[in-house]
Amino acid sequence: TSRVSARIAGIKPSATLAVDAKAKALKAGGRPVIGFGAGQPDFPTPDYVVDAAAAAVRDRANHGYTAAGGLPELKEALARKTRRDSGLEVDPSQVLVTNGGKQAVYSAFATIVDPGDEVLLLAPYWTTYPESIALAGGVAVQVTADESTGYLVTVEQLEAARTEKTKVLLFNSPSNPTGAVYPREQVEAIGRWAYEHGIWVITDEIYEHLVYDGAKAESLPVVVPEMADTTLILNGVAKTYSMTGWRVGWIIGPKDVIKAASSYQSHLCGNVANVSQRAALAAVDGPLDIVDEMRASFDARRKKIVSLLSAIPGVECPTPEGAFYAYPSVKALLGKEIRGERPADTVELADLILREAEVAVVPGEAFGTPGYFRFSYALAEDELVEGVTRVAKLLGEAR
Ligand code: PLP
Repeated sequence: TSRVSARIAGIKPSATLAVDAKAKALKAGGRPVIGFGAGQPDFPTPDYVVDAAAAAVRDRANHGYTAAGGLPELKEALARKTRRDSGLEVDPSQVLVTNGGKQAVYSAFATIVDPGDEVLLLAPYWTTYPESIALAGGVAVQVTADESTGYLVTVEQLEAARTEKTKVLLFNSPSNPTGAVYPREQVEAIGRWAYEHGIWVITDEIYEHLVYDGAKAESLPVVVPEMADTTLILNGVAKTYSMTGWRVGWIIGPKDVIKAASSYQSHLCGNVANVSQRAALAAVDGPLDIVDEMRASFDARRKKIVSLLSAIPGVECPTPEGAFYAYPSVKALLGKEIRGERPADTVELADLILREAEVAVVPGEAFGTPGYFRFSYALAEDELVEGVTRVAKLLGEAR
């Protein structure tokens, strides 16, 4: 019998972190590994945020606990930021500050899902979602879209997956891992469908500012205002402000649910680190021009990586319109011979690529869809070119 609880023993370790750890270990051993695994921007946190945090550390007013749900000033700033960025009107009492977007994901499920409730999970999905759903006792029902539709799930597919146990739809646009951005009509159709069937929506907007080619991240309760009372919005500073290590995210939702989630948080962790909340306050109150600069760099890398990947025979890479990931299909290469091996799935092929090309990519198995790789393009452009060139050379040997 297991020494750990069944609930915890059932958790799979994060495959994205595992790939990153393998790559880092090889690198530490002196190997010239190029990592496409990490889902974090390679820019430093903006100076004005670091300065605000440094000042906050020296002020003893910030040495104690904050209110469990977050600093009142930060909740007000998040309400202002939401109005500015998506156009949704919210009161500070509708905001809960969490330890990163990750805790926002888990707390959202823990707060509205009962054991046995079904959650429609759009795949390819971000690795953390199914584990969070399971921890909350929910049952993830996977609804998959492939490259032929640009990884966009339709209302017809959702309707086919709906049962009387369906409680929540989990939505994420721009998407990790595909970079897909749902167009407004499809956001509206999905929102209306959910509202009509009394289905809650948890919508993860963490990549809202990272959109390209004129794409726009539409906020579900802005497009379909009737659904505001049954929607939880998840967000955070990690991706927009290059603040992955600061651990600040938030949930926006109806007051009763936020109150319940805040009281849960008061027992779970007390509050998010006071100084990190001050840093997040500076970030969301600050200008968006730094974000525009980062987006411009990501955009250049995006174009580069899509053109390099698309040129590899057997690789099909739809153009992502958001986030900082490319999600090519490599199904045509599976079962072929490369350097004396015949990788049968993308876990094996990713392993071969790491050994032979010294490049780390995350296999699609981590996102519910074998046959694909996720490449994060949040790395310097020269490294990006070198890394994909090595992969192209190796995969070019497939027979
Ligand atoms: N949501 C999505 C879709 C993500 O990709 C991530 C990070 O990888 C997060 C939420 C959470 O980010 P953090 O916990 O760093 O705020």
